[in-house]
Amino acid sequence: MARPYNFSAGPAAMPVEVLEIAAREMLDWHGTGMGVMEMSHRGKAFGEIAAQAEADLRELLAVPSHFKILFMQGGGLAENAIVPMNLSRGGVVDFVVTGGWSQNSLKEAGRYAQTHLAASNADSRHTTLPAPASWQLSPDAQYVHICSNETIHGVEFQALPDLKALGSDAPLVVDFSSHVASRPVDWSRVGLAFGGAQKNLGPAGLTLVVVREDLLGHALPICPSAFNYKTVADNASMYNTPPTYAIYIAGLTFQWLKRQGGVAAMEARNIAKARLLYDFLDQSPFYENRVAPDCRSRMNVPFFLKDESRNEAFLAGAQARGLLQLKGHKSVGGMRASLYNAIPIEGVQALVDYLRDFEKEMA
Ligand SMILES: *Cc1c(COP(=O)(O)O)cnc(C)c1O
Repeated sequence: MARPYNFSAGPAAMPVEVLEIAAREMLDWHGTGMGVMEMSHRGKAFGEIAAQAEADLRELLAVPSHFKILFMQGGGLAENAIVPMNLSRGGVVDFVVTGGWSQNSLKEAGRYAQTHLAASNADSRHTTLPAPASWQLSPDAQYVHICSNETIHGVEFQALPDLKALGSDAPLVVDFSSHVASRPVDWSRVGLAFGGAQKNLGPAGLTLVVVREDLLGHALPICPSAFNYKTVADNASMYNTPPTYAIYIAGLTFQWLKRQGGVAAMEARNIAKARLLYDFLDQSPFYENRVAPDCRSRMNVPFFLKDESRNEAFLAGAQARGLLQLKGHKSVGGMRASLYNAIPIEGVQALVDYLRDFEKEMA
């Protein structure tokens, strides 16, 4: 029987090949007589796994050598506190609020720094993006925070803002949890990027941080040592025990991504997948997506049935066809399809076929 297509926003679908390799290696990794979960993080075997994962990620995302790659824990929500503890120096930090996740980040950072709302799309109920030229940046901001893909509201920056061109020297902090590795990153515009692995890289438990070296070493005294980026960097992400199995699975995913042709190839596929779904939704009188077309996320597509009394029937029918986890986030309602790297275009086609059939059935 074919595997169902899983449109969960996270934890989310994994490439089947990665799961198959992990299953084969579960009891014995490469003749060591140990599964990866059973290895010391300081041993030779796991050292190879971690070093390979980091090298592959650096290659895939084209991370320049003056950035450190850190494998941490705590997820995006913990980073909402860890970033200001490391970068704010107790000063002012600017936030661009474009949806639920950046709103969370602003609130949490307020416990450690003076936050300033530089721009918001709340007026449009998070269906647009404020133009960078309109942002009210603080002259003395320690950093500017954006969420480059809002998983809940389905808006995505199609390019990272160029803060220098806006007259700011502040580093840009990017929460790229839900679209990392779906498109290239312009590192010349980034000071720090973070993301939980469970959307597009691997299992929950691993948090990726990519940080410019010159930003290290200014943590507030209250910052826990295990969350001090400099401590983590100086110890090659092994100050405390890292999430070893999650790093291994993410590493298998990086190798899978390389076999697929890398991030540029994934981007081309993601563009085609998103177009297939949005084009269908836009021409249908039965469904709607409310996000401004130039702000739409390629990864997370919230949509609504115009007649919401059909929601339950829609979800039950989807489940019966092997189309899983399409229910929208509770704060938005309706439906949401997440089209991460592991979802092939055939999965999106199966979803569109179902959307069409359900619409006909209800006519
Ligand atoms: C999922 C998500 C988070 C939160 O991740 P946790 O691992 O639950 O802390 C933060 N930001 C974005 C953009 C997300 O999609």
